[in-house]
Amino acid sequence: MIGSMEQYYNKIYRGGMKTLVRELTARIDSGRGSFVVTANPEIFMMGKNYAEMNEALLDENTLIVPDGIGVIKGGGTFGIKFKERIPGVEICGELLRYADRKHRSVYLFGAEQSVLEALVSRIQREYPGIELAGFTNGYVKDKDEIFQKITELEPDIVLVALGTPVQELLIHRFYRPDRPGLYMGVGGSFDILSGLKKRAPAFFIKCNLEWLYRIVREPKRLKRFWNSNVKFLFEVRKEKNGH
Ligand code: UDP
Repeated sequence: MIGSMEQYYNKIYRGGMKTLVRELTARIDSGRGSFVVTANPEIFMMGKNYAEMNEALLDENTLIVPDGIGVIKGGGTFGIKFKERIPGVEICGELLRYADRKHRSVYLFGAEQSVLEALVSRIQREYPGIELAGFTNGYVKDKDEIFQKITELEPDIVLVALGTPVQELLIHRFYRPDRPGLYMGVGGSFDILSGLKKRAPAFFIKCNLEWLYRIVREPKRLKRFWNSNVKFLFEVRKEKNGH
């Protein structure tokens, strides 16, 4: 084991969505770079086992926000209370609204071509103030090459929808905190923002059961859920008890 859950927990953002968005947009306005990790148990388990992910999480410039309900629940073991869950897909929505208002540039990297095209048309229709710096689907052969080009363009916001850990590792490798640009790994958010996939109904979200809805809709997620979420809660307790 390389990292520790306690180290990650000490770094997680404790405020709510409103203050987070205020802080992020202030950083964009002032031309400072940011890397936002929307944490779920899977990401923390990877951090414990893989040096590169551990480094990405512990980097002083990385901002970790509590996305998964497992992360919120695990916090109780360390006596940490979070104001609220901050889902990555909702941060994306807030950032798009801000970019529209302030005429910021956005680059979209990831998801299937059809999903990406649907999202691009939605942005052009509903957020005409956004300057689209570019978009590339997530199935290109050389992701490094694309990322290199993105960083050279220096967009204000870069949303990376390649899934964990690919998105976080790429961002960590390429983004520079001393250059402008907010970089965020957004997982399956393009599928939802494009309108092609439905997010869980409000009831599931309110009861913190979004994960259950996703498993029922896509049973292949069950193995992933077991491997990360269930093992994660054991791991947190084990660490707390010192063995
Ligand atoms: N994806 C991609 N390239 C790949 C593998 C995945 O662009 O090589 C995309 C995929 O199309 C989906 C996203 O990455 O839009 C991952 O979604 P998932 O729901 O698995 O992520 P989660 O939100 O669960 O982390």
